[in-house]
Amino acid sequence: MLDRINFLKDEINKANYKYYVEDNPSISDYEYDKMYAELKSLEEQNPLLITPDSPTQRVGSVSEKFLPYKHKYRLYSLDNTYEYDVLEDWYKKIVKEYGEQKLVCELKIDGLAIALTYEKGIFVRGVTRGDGITGEDITNNLKTIKAIPLKLFEPVDVEVRGEIYMPKTSFEKLNEENLANGEKLFANPRNAAAGSIRQLDSKITAKRDLSMFCYTAIFTGTVNNLPKTHYESIMYLKKLGFKTNPNIKLCDNANEAIKYCQSWDEKRFSLDYATDGVVIKVNDLLVQQEMGFTSRAPKWATAFKFPPEEVTTTLIKIEESVGKTGAITPVAVLEPVLLGGSTVSRASLHNFDEVGRLDVRIGDRVYIKKAAEIIPKVVKVIEDEEHFNRPQYLPPEYCPSCGAKLNTHDGEVNLYCDNPECPAKVCARIEFWVSKDAMDIDKVGPSVIEQLYNKGFIKSPVDLYKLSMQDFMQLDLVKEKSAFNMYTSIQNSKNNPLSRLITAFSIKNVGKETANVLAGEFETLEKLKSADIEQLSKVEGIGEIIAQDIYEFFRNPETISMLEELKTLNVEPAPPVKNVYDDFKGLTFVLTGTLQNMTRDEASEKIKQMGGKTSSSVSKNTSYVLAGENAGSKLDKAEKLGVIILSEKDFLDMIKGKVL
Ligand code: NAD
Repeated sequence: MLDRINFLKDEINKANYKYYVEDNPSISDYEYDKMYAELKSLEEQNPLLITPDSPTQRVGSVSEKFLPYKHKYRLYSLDNTYEYDVLEDWYKKIVKEYGEQKLVCELKIDGLAIALTYEKGIFVRGVTRGDGITGEDITNNLKTIKAIPLKLFEPVDVEVRGEIYMPKTSFEKLNEENLANGEKLFANPRNAAAGSIRQLDSKITAKRDLSMFCYTAIFTGTVNNLPKTHYESIMYLKKLGFKTNPNIKLCDNANEAIKYCQSWDEKRFSLDYATDGVVIKVNDLLVQQEMGFTSRAPKWATAFKFPPEEVTTTLIKIEESVGKTGAITPVAVLEPVLLGGSTVSRASLHNFDEVGRLDVRIGDRVYIKKAAEIIPKVVKVIEDEEHFNRPQYLPPEYCPSCGAKLNTHDGEVNLYCDNPECPAKVCARIEFWVSKDAMDIDKVGPSVIEQLYNKGFIKSPVDLYKLSMQDFMQLDLVKEKSAFNMYTSIQNSKNNPLSRLITAFSIKNVGKETANVLAGEFETLEKLKSADIEQLSKVEGIGEIIAQDIYEFFRNPETISMLEELKTLNVEPAPPVKNVYDDFKGLTFVLTGTLQNMTRDEASEKIKQMGGKTSSSVSKNTSYVLAGENAGSKLDKAEKLGVIILSEKDFLDMIKGKVL
């Protein structure tokens, strides 16, 4: 037990130093919080083992870079939890002692805490939180931040606390510049903000895009109508000229606060600043005063933390995966780890240039990150001593599937296997053919395709249509019923809409959207096949390059024989649905968020049936944005551009009785 406590103390102290002093964390916040919670619980069970140097008794850390400044009012940390039950228990205890309380919910900005002092409305001093008792005087650097007023609208004496942060877009730009100049990359916007504000040369700070949200006020002089609640004090700060976060909410109880937390779980990704949770505070300032503080945190506030968005784990190996075009993609195989609410064991490494840029080596500890709807990716390697002792990873020279020599194609960073018979490439092409966006043959998955290929039953997507029930029965674990399902799902795809078949062809530069446009424009495969470059490039959204790719595809002897075979096998696409209505003629819709009554694809189909068009990005030419739940940045852009936003109900009303 004592060994475990000492181990945790050491590890947390080491992590604190890297995080607070070097602005270069060695573990993720989630792992830190887990170790911290374990230490706290061990100490609670054995209070005699609590020592004054335990990280649970202290807040943050002070470095010696700047002049120390002793805070007049101590700056505390916050207790935190990843669980709603803990939040409910915290509230129940408050109600038991103080009765029902209103709660204020604020986004927990992931930056660094600062105390600003104003005398008679004039900014006189700005100090980092440090260890909560003593911080670093960084007044000159803070003066470079435009969100910090140098003079208030009223001549009050006040100490204001808030969070300095760097917008996500500025963080990415800074890292790009640092990369180009061979300088150190920051792990996340918080470290970039901390590193920028604690620069000895204010000129460097001034160049960095920093901002500040204020969330606490301590009035030290006389103020007319002193705020009685936390919410009022935030409104007053706003009136004085401070930047406060607009997403503040006054809640009646813990349930409402939990709903607020849930509502931000996904939406937070659309913000241009990092937030790692929600801070929940008792609204009544007198009750706050009565409740007081523990050794490191207020009892009247707590933080609910979102499931980790970024964690560290170990890279077990780099898998070289062969795609349908023969492009080889490096995929990181990882020690499984919890990220954003699910267990992740694979992450994208994009291409071999990226692997080189990251200098990722087998066995390294790596940061992985997940943003909404995006597959996890490796963002950074922890460059510890062991990293430099590991051999550098070198891109493959030969195809991992067929052994052919790999090539680069003009102007592209990818490596390619150009062997047309490469098994992995052939299987990937067939997998794409059956995928949801293409022919949607949902009963035939990757492992069935691999078995069919290995048994010599299929060598191309066309061969799928030659399979009999008996062929499926020869596969491992396949009984009559599933053989029947596989067989019929292939047969049922024969008359799929033309757009699906065009997508399934995997023509270079032609994805689902372009396939839809082509099907709408040419209506039959015959007409599309015989279109010349001029006709093709007249189609909206298709430039000369794509027109050339399509033209060449249909003149390739392999395509010609594939189309003939498909015809003899009765694979004949259904003509596109004629627009019976043209209510949406000339209108462009952009879809965002999750719809309740239909998928986004189904909604797009209905828009087309009504004569309208869809687009993937919002511009001034967008007629409507159809916004479902948890709509992201597209909604913000639509609001900025003044584009009309439709709810799902509005949309259903518009199409009512016209399309199914
Ligand atoms: P914290 O960041 O969990 O919470 C307290 C801080 O929240 C306050 O000091 C304030 O700066 C901030 N905050 C943001 N928005 C706020 C708002 N609206 N109202 C009030 N406060 C707000 O606590 P901490 O003491 O700053 O740091 C501890 C945390 O830092 C850990 O839980 C961990 O996640 C992280 N950490 C990570 C490492 C690492 O190695 N990865 C090391 C040390 C600390």
